[in-house]
Amino acid sequence: MRIEEVQSTTKKQRIATHTHIKGLGLDPNGVALPMAAGFVGQVAAREAAGLVVDMIRQKKMAGRALLLAGPPSTGKTALALGISQELGTKVPFCPMVGSEVYSSEVKKTEVLMENFRRAIGLRIKENKEVYEGEVTELSPEETESTNGGYGKSIGHVIVGLKTVKGTKQLKLDPTIYDALIKEKVAVGDVIYIEANSGAVKRVGRSDSFATEFDLEAEEYVPLPKGEVHKKKEIVQDVTLHDLDAANARPQGGQDILSLMGQMMKPRKTEITDKLRQEINKVVNRYIDEGVAELVPGVLFIDEVHMLDMECFSYLNRALESAISPIVIFATNRGICNVRGTDMTSPHGVPVDLLDRLVIIRTEIYGPTEMIQILAIRAQVEELVIDEESLAYLGEIGQEASLRHVMQLLSPASIVARMSGRDKICKADIEEVNTLYLDAKSSARLLQEQQERYIS
Ligand code: ATP
Repeated sequence: MRIEEVQSTTKKQRIATHTHIKGLGLDPNGVALPMAAGFVGQVAAREAAGLVVDMIRQKKMAGRALLLAGPPSTGKTALALGISQELGTKVPFCPMVGSEVYSSEVKKTEVLMENFRRAIGLRIKENKEVYEGEVTELSPEETESTNGGYGKSIGHVIVGLKTVKGTKQLKLDPTIYDALIKEKVAVGDVIYIEANSGAVKRVGRSDSFATEFDLEAEEYVPLPKGEVHKKKEIVQDVTLHDLDAANARPQGGQDILSLMGQMMKPRKTEITDKLRQEINKVVNRYIDEGVAELVPGVLFIDEVHMLDMECFSYLNRALESAISPIVIFATNRGICNVRGTDMTSPHGVPVDLLDRLVIIRTEIYGPTEMIQILAIRAQVEELVIDEESLAYLGEIGQEASLRHVMQLLSPASIVARMSGRDKICKADIEEVNTLYLDAKSSARLLQEQQERYIS
């Protein structure tokens, strides 16, 4: 495996409902525009978040974290995502829910550690030399076999390559000859050769390179210097967790590291502390060499009151680390119990961590804002909906929640289509609203009909 093939393991589904959020929607003076970057209303919180972005840029948030406090579906996740987008386009955003740490298989701190590493990006820059040229000669150079003189084997292959700088004869490894034959390359064809410090890495008929060589460095036959047709700068953004996961995989795990400097060759199947330390070492060397750059992202922990004392002490320590991402907590709780203790505390967060927090409040939306947000979502989901239906959804939303009405959009569009319409109308909303209960009505119903349910 090469570093270009490290798949990003971003948790995509959890941010799917926020695809309309493109930033915080602030003007150059940090004032919130009424509707911008997919954001509507929540003006004070957006402006406060903008200031936090400035503090992060000026490195004044080190060791501190942000807490977004407000009722459900008031845009806390959207704000956290907006902050990460304001920090840069390739800044990792890792959302998680406090309760995720409770798993029977994995330690709580392990879950936190993994998510921390999902939120720390690494931008790797590689300079590749790519030769483009027409084949003028393709001939294997035969040598006498050493095993008793039976037959002959190919020692090297001579490839004549006409590049922009003129024609050169290259003496290449026989493996490369096999690859060229396999690709049916003949004299007169244009081929691409990618080299790394003069050593051939890949050849092919296009510069996306079909054939890759897994040769040890000394097996490469160096290309002549100064013949580079074009330099390709390849930039890849990965997270530390992507690197952990790629190296923990049983197959091909060591190649990424061999690219980073051949540190080790074990075949691991799980991410261990030792593996992470090894990755850190290589990453640090990459950074020192100027090949890679750290991109601290955003770790968003929703329902922070679900974490317990053990998690909080881990977080306190992790925030002190030199490579900590920006940690954003969210909660809709007021004063409550700190899990794992008999203490109560604001938002269920122990006071020593509370001390480190910058707190931003989010407010409930009025019908106009809800309608605007719904209209944006309908547009993103490519749904056609009339004014009356939007207004009606706004009304339902006031009773239930923004999330509930947003979730009615898709089923309503299906109902509309079943009635042979492209446009969602009020009757469709009425129908789906009777089919799906919002959380509050569901709770009310359960209470009213308590005797019918198992308690
Ligand atoms: P919870 O506490 O339940 O996790 P939350 O406060 O994180 O909720 P979000 O998930 O951010 O709420 O909001 C619900 C939905 O509404 C999301 O799809 C979000 O993108 C959208 N949304 C919320 N506020 C805004 C806003 N001000 N402008 C545009 N879209 C918004």
